[in-house]
Amino acid sequence: MSNAPQTSFANSPEIESWEAETVIGWGKTLVVAPHPDDESLGCGGAVALLRKFGNDVAVLTVSDGALSHPNSKKFPPAKLRDLRERETIAALDILGVSEDKITFLRFPDGSVPGELSDDFAAAVTIVKDYLTANSPQTILLPWRRDPHPDHLASWQIVKASIIECGGDYRVLEYPIWLWERAENADLPREKNIKIRRLEINEAAVQKQAAIRAHASQTTGLIDDDPNGFQLSAEVLAHFDGEFEIYFEEIK
Ligand SMILES: [Zn+2]
Repeated sequence: MSNAPQTSFANSPEIESWEAETVIGWGKTLVVAPHPDDESLGCGGAVALLRKFGNDVAVLTVSDGALSHPNSKKFPPAKLRDLRERETIAALDILGVSEDKITFLRFPDGSVPGELSDDFAAAVTIVKDYLTANSPQTILLPWRRDPHPDHLASWQIVKASIIECGGDYRVLEYPIWLWERAENADLPREKNIKIRRLEINEAAVQKQAAIRAHASQTTGLIDDDPNGFQLSAEVLAHFDGEFEIYFEEIK
């Protein structure tokens, strides 16, 4: 795969660098993770920094993650879901977020209801009620065109929930599969989308430990499904840098 799309956002000449302390201004922050692990991959550095500076952080995990090893006899879906939730709790503990700040919506992995689904309105209501009850100031969302159906659906659900709430949330969008699978059309091109590079050097060790806490995705822990998913070294390398990328739509 060509490096061109990746280079075009991570090394954009218009990119703005943010020092670690920038996150203080995000206030109370909600991380929306389509799958258990996206919170650590996409935002692990930011989360660790937010907690270091005393900001409140909550996490909404959208899907149950039960599709990563569909043929495993040792980890049938309910057991795999439980494992992935425990891994998320362990990862976030490393980043300084306690279990009571984590909400698992348990939508089916691979079938998170997007805007064309009959279940979309119900999902929007659930997230709208969550936002109303928890009132974050900043929401970290997967990039609106991150090339994975659950990531797109998660963005659509939260975006519609924000509109229904009428709340004034700051939204920052993070890339996951954009690094690896982007077509040119997936990339940020809108003039009002700004690309930010958050310096996470001082949280890099915590972030890598959090990613490794998702052992079902990063190791051969589940060894009885030849078709099981595992994050490759190439993919993980995108999340092993001294910065995280965030896209922000300027209103
Ligand atoms: Zn994901």
